[in-house]
Amino acid sequence: MAKPIVNQETCIGCGVCESVCPAVFKMNDGKAIVIEADYEANKETIQQAIDSCPVAAITLE
Ligand code: SF4
Repeated sequence: MAKPIVNQETCIGCGVCESVCPAVFKMNDGKAIVIEADYEANKETIQQAIDSCPVAAITLE
């Protein structure tokens, strides 16, 4: 699993990705950011976050 990226312009700060995958996504100043983590170990919840983002702001590097 590649590192996920959050498009800071598209993200509306809904917090869903952090709820689904808190090991990788954190809310920061009203937007989600990606923190250093074992992306391979978290691949299922990362994919869930990608699928759950209402504005498709999460992509893979
Ligand atoms: S789910 Fe999408 S819009 Fe919501 S905080 Fe995460 S990246 Fe932003």
